[in-house]
Amino acid sequence: MHITSDAGRAAWAAITTDPSTTLVCSDFDGVLSPIVDNPDEAWASEDTVGVLERLGSRVAKVAIVTGRPARQAVRLGRLDERTGLASASVLGLYGFERWDADTGDYDEPEAPGGVANAAAALPDLLADHDLADARIENKRLSVGVHTRELPDPAAAFERLTGPLTELAESHDLQVEPGRFVLELRARGLDKGDAIRRLVDELHPTAIIYAGDDLGDLPAFRAVRWLRESGRVKALLICSGSDEQDALVAVSDVVVDGPDGVAELLGELADALDAAHPGA
Ligand SMILES: [Mg+2]
Repeated sequence: MHITSDAGRAAWAAITTDPSTTLVCSDFDGVLSPIVDNPDEAWASEDTVGVLERLGSRVAKVAIVTGRPARQAVRLGRLDERTGLASASVLGLYGFERWDADTGDYDEPEAPGGVANAAAALPDLLADHDLADARIENKRLSVGVHTRELPDPAAAFERLTGPLTELAESHDLQVEPGRFVLELRARGLDKGDAIRRLVDELHPTAIIYAGDDLGDLPAFRAVRWLRESGRVKALLICSGSDEQDALVAVSDVVVDGPDGVAELLGELADALDAAHPGA
């Protein structure tokens, strides 16, 4: 464990003493699953989900907070098959959708029409920029353009930023940059809102949040604000990569990708087992 902040160490100690009012939140891609070329095949790491299961039976809730549709995160994490996650939730599409393990119900409100219209315009736009091979990912409330599989992912990302921003604005959407992906999505939704809703619902005394990308920044900010206002102890985990370092400065601990997340949370699960044997 290499927690670098006093506040992070205080959270670890408090959670070890009494985990029952802890909210454990994790992003999906780049935290539970490695980043892969085809996002439809970003299966969650068995090790990482296994550790969440160990924690799930001890904490108030495990919540997966993701830009993916809830249904897809459940499928790629096989979350509906995990006995340790019987009270887990998935907040999909930045909290627009929700799945609860205890009922098995999906809440999937109808999406605004702008996304579909922007998605329809994308193939021509990409062809105009000689980037027709960029992967388009439709996520209902957002549409992503991935440059990871192109010959020069960084150059393509840069070339598309302006045109995609224009396209987004013309359909009343916003552009969310990620790791070699530009996502056009409905305005006014972010992971910070999703976290605040969970906190209002559960009143946790401690929060763990693990993220890897720019889309997690609003959640990090929301958790830091809750911590600074004295409402919760909090441990912010950055799943580190060579591709994105925006979360490093606002994290309490930086680990090496999904394997590092599994290792760190595994240490916490071990500490809980030691502190509360038989529980
Ligand atoms: Mg991610």
